[in-house]
Amino acid sequence: MVTKFKRADGREVDEIRPIEAKVGVVPSADGSAMFKSGNTIAIAAVYGPKKMHPQHQQNPAKGQLRCEYSMLSFSVSDRIKPGRNRRAMEISEITKWALEPVLMLDKYPNQVVDVFINIIQADAGTRCAGINAAAMALAHAGIPMTDIVSSVAIGKLDKTLVADLTKEEEDFEEGEGPTDIPITLTHEGKVTHMQLDGKIGVKQLGEALDLAKVACEKVYEVQKKALKDAIDMKNGGEK
Ligand code: UDP
Repeated sequence: MVTKFKRADGREVDEIRPIEAKVGVVPSADGSAMFKSGNTIAIAAVYGPKKMHPQHQQNPAKGQLRCEYSMLSFSVSDRIKPGRNRRAMEISEITKWALEPVLMLDKYPNQVVDVFINIIQADAGTRCAGINAAAMALAHAGIPMTDIVSSVAIGKLDKTLVADLTKEEEDFEEGEGPTDIPITLTHEGKVTHMQLDGKIGVKQLGEALDLAKVACEKVYEVQKKALKDAIDMKNGGEK
């Protein structure tokens, strides 16, 4: 798709930033992964399934997922205040919503799976990068899943839809300004998470979803390759 709209970093409107992924980056975790999109880098570590403590929080019908997202203090040039804040709590919760629909947690009654996401470098799209890393880390931990999820933020800059916003684009001030739409999809194309910060019409929202499907397919290919590389390495006798 080529339009006359000029992006600051020269990308086409439907072009995502260069992505990289690696599995097994935290050796002491049960599963772990790194996902990098441009200058945004997320690390996810999974611990579990393990017995839920305190005991009164155990659910005998199914296991539970806990997600904790945080940005490291050096992830942006203005130092982030350490500790939980409202934004981190919101992103932790939506990360859980994005991942839970594909996890077969009914296999783990009374147990919990902990997912920790740390953002090492932030240039927008950190919730999506965190979800992408977490999906890989959960697969690496061997948690059974019906599908894998992939996530990308679609933006509307004035009237034009673009894939995978940078921070500079999130701060776009011309015309109608910016709209940020983080979307998480299963590989089958089911939406497990969608947020909307800004304004968009129904027709264009449908177009944003189509753009997300194409972008998430590219993310999926990179996630799949990173997981396959980790299996190949293990089969070759290396960790
Ligand atoms: N950001 C920041 N300080 C903060 C929170 C966010 O500099 O305390 C920057 C960071 O680059 C982040 C971007 O703002 O990626 C956009 O944040 P948003 O809340 O929209 O979430 P994201 O796009 O990272 O999922």
